[in-house]
Amino acid sequence: MKYQSFLIKYAEIGTKGKNRYMFEDTLIKQIHHALKDVDGEFQVTKESGRIYVMAAGNYDCDDVIDALKRVFGIADICPMVQIEDKGYENLKKSVVSYMDQVYPDKNLTFKVVARRGDKSYPVSSEQMNRDLGEVILEAFPQMKVDVHHPDVLLRVEVRQKINLFSEMIPGPGGMPVGTNGRAMLLLSGGIDSPVAGYMIAKRGVVLDAVYFHAPPYTSERAKQKVVDLANLVARYSGPINLFVVNFTDIQLCIYENCPHEELTIIMRRYMMRIAQELAKRTGALGLITGESIGQVASQTMQSLAATNDVCTMPVFRPVIGFDKQEIIDLSEKIGTYETSIQPYEDCCTIFVAKHPVTRPNINVIRCSELRLGEQIDGLVDEALNTAERILCEG
Ligand code: ATP
Ligand code: MG
Repeated sequence: MKYQSFLIKYAEIGTKGKNRYMFEDTLIKQIHHALKDVDGEFQVTKESGRIYVMAAGNYDCDDVIDALKRVFGIADICPMVQIEDKGYENLKKSVVSYMDQVYPDKNLTFKVVARRGDKSYPVSSEQMNRDLGEVILEAFPQMKVDVHHPDVLLRVEVRQKINLFSEMIPGPGGMPVGTNGRAMLLLSGGIDSPVAGYMIAKRGVVLDAVYFHAPPYTSERAKQKVVDLANLVARYSGPINLFVVNFTDIQLCIYENCPHEELTIIMRRYMMRIAQELAKRTGALGLITGESIGQVASQTMQSLAATNDVCTMPVFRPVIGFDKQEIIDLSEKIGTYETSIQPYEDCCTIFVAKHPVTRPNINVIRCSELRLGEQIDGLVDEALNTAERILCEG
């Protein structure tokens, strides 16, 4: 069955009271964005608490559904048939033809649930349930009515037009991106940070991203991998501005001046400082990382505290309580896993000490940083000013 329209159900937006129109308009914008590369022409409209996608031209229903499954804010996608001629006899015919086309195997139980949004419609919902059930039974004697656990729940909604639908495909849930501000994702080439970005975008947050690149210790290919990951996340979040910061001189300066077992922590403190500065420039109000308690030496409770010590903005760590396998499962689901496991060095792995501190003392770390002197400030400024910006549109 080739559907021409799709009813979009949204969950949490429905509770937003007076601001609801704003959430709906943002959702419509994100639906347009998701469909921009899908063949066909699409019109997205809203009608009291409902959003419809109308398709025309040469499109593939599965492509449309796949794209809609990536739009945060969508609870369910219901492929539907919309009937313009609301005459009762025409409705009966349409219901029979719907059941015939959508369910080639007639061995099923069903129930009709009619609702009149348009109260001027001359037939009551109860009456419609009975009459439409009857015409279906007449047309397909193998079908049976089951009012408690039907295989097929056919919904008939009388509004400006009449909507028929029975399939509900789950969307990703969450809130439309653009309804909850902006945050800066520290995006490495690993498994965790793309998942972290996805999770925060799912709550409606626009993403910027920053990658710390250390040429020649990290290759162009490692950078390309991060660009690829940003593009994969952007399929859900919408366009991401990815800042690529050259971190080499800062790393070397730390390497030359500070105890080697503290390198990772001090490096991570500088990443946070720079990310925070970039965030201020883009209007982002928080940072996002893929940290998870205890995963590596730099993510013990003490290490997280030492890293967080330099942050003045909120740091969101959505996978903080996840096991590695749980993060992997999510990365497979959103399609970033295969890219994340490509074997290119990221900048942390080059400078890691054999025995990094696992319980850094914040005061000791602060003292070690004093050894970097004024030189480090100049290097940070230069890193900020030479950051390359890459627009990743998915
Ligand atoms: P991931 O799988 O996300 O790379 P990880 O397990 O490798 O994480 P770390 O290397 O300790 O863990 O990094 C923790 C977090 O710090 C990452 O999730 C990411 O948010 C950030 N980060 C690490 N390295 C970089 C980098 N080169 N550029 C940007 N952010 C980084
Ligand atoms: Mg990493």
